[in-house]
Amino acid sequence: MDWIDLRSDTVTQPTAAMRAAMHTAAVGDDVYGEDPTVNRLQQRLADDLGFEAGLFVPSGTQSNLLALLAHCERGDEYIVGMDAHTYKFEGGGAAVLGSIQPQPIVQADDGSLPLERVAAAIKPVDPHFARTRLLALENTWHGRVLPLDYLRQARAFSRTHGLGLHLDGARLFNAAIACNVPAREIAQQFDTVSICLSKGLGAPVGSVLVGSAALIGKARRWRKVCGGGWRQAGMLAAGCLHALDHHVARLADDHARAAQLADGLGKIDGLILLGQHTNMVFIDVSAEHLRALDTHLRAAGIRISIGYLPTLRLVTHLDVDDAGIERTVAAFADFFTR
Ligand SMILES: *Cc1c(COP(=O)(O)O)cnc(C)c1O
Repeated sequence: MDWIDLRSDTVTQPTAAMRAAMHTAAVGDDVYGEDPTVNRLQQRLADDLGFEAGLFVPSGTQSNLLALLAHCERGDEYIVGMDAHTYKFEGGGAAVLGSIQPQPIVQADDGSLPLERVAAAIKPVDPHFARTRLLALENTWHGRVLPLDYLRQARAFSRTHGLGLHLDGARLFNAAIACNVPAREIAQQFDTVSICLSKGLGAPVGSVLVGSAALIGKARRWRKVCGGGWRQAGMLAAGCLHALDHHVARLADDHARAAQLADGLGKIDGLILLGQHTNMVFIDVSAEHLRALDTHLRAAGIRISIGYLPTLRLVTHLDVDDAGIERTVAAFADFFTR
């Protein structure tokens, strides 16, 4: 079956050209800093985004964790969105491994943390309190793009309050494409940025953390401590470099297809279109229909994530083409008109 998999943009298969680039990559021992392809990837993203250094790691979770460990010490605190990935979906790693206390804040609907709420959460310098060190933002958040103006305000705010500023930019390039600005313009508002190459960019494995040489030096040490020092990782880095060369501009196609999908689903009675943001579409389907819908879609060769909530997230990516969108809309329409 020719599956259309809309569960996530992590499900992509490496293209033949990407596999060829990986196959022929020059490699060395990265713990010694000797893998030329890893070094090229790290420097490439650092240069493109305007930072001194980069660090290649296996996952976005590890990249965010290393950033938190680099910014904060035991007994420090970071301020973060209540529904942010670094707080909610990373196993509490900063607390588990760094004795770093999270201070979650309720986010606005666009994913931003209202700065007056952040200000109210900053602790006084007093032995009663954890030391507030860092503000962590996420862009895109559930596909939503944080406005550039807000990022500039957050930058000024963090300077005023002496806080570091970290971006979980798992989908930084989706945000840049949606804003029609170079990714650098977004990244430059932050002290550290974590970028996933294995989401919409389509590499099989890998994230890169960029920042100052000092912060990345600390992160490198913590990567080794966490068991993340790797050896001939250049084969993976080659896939990431290929993705940066060939899969950034095409993210616009994913956004356009998500808009097409939203347009089609919005015309179907029986489901509620909640919205479309970059490469994600959100719909509500009443709970009683979820199981039957899942079965119906699978029979039509379509995979979506069905959990226990009525809200469904459909994600477009490299392996979903126009025909896939049409087939999906048709399968939904078929289910709800039966
Ligand atoms: C996927 C994701 C991560 C973590 O990436 P993994 O590679 O799955 O660990 C972090 N933040 C956001 C917003 C993500 O979507």
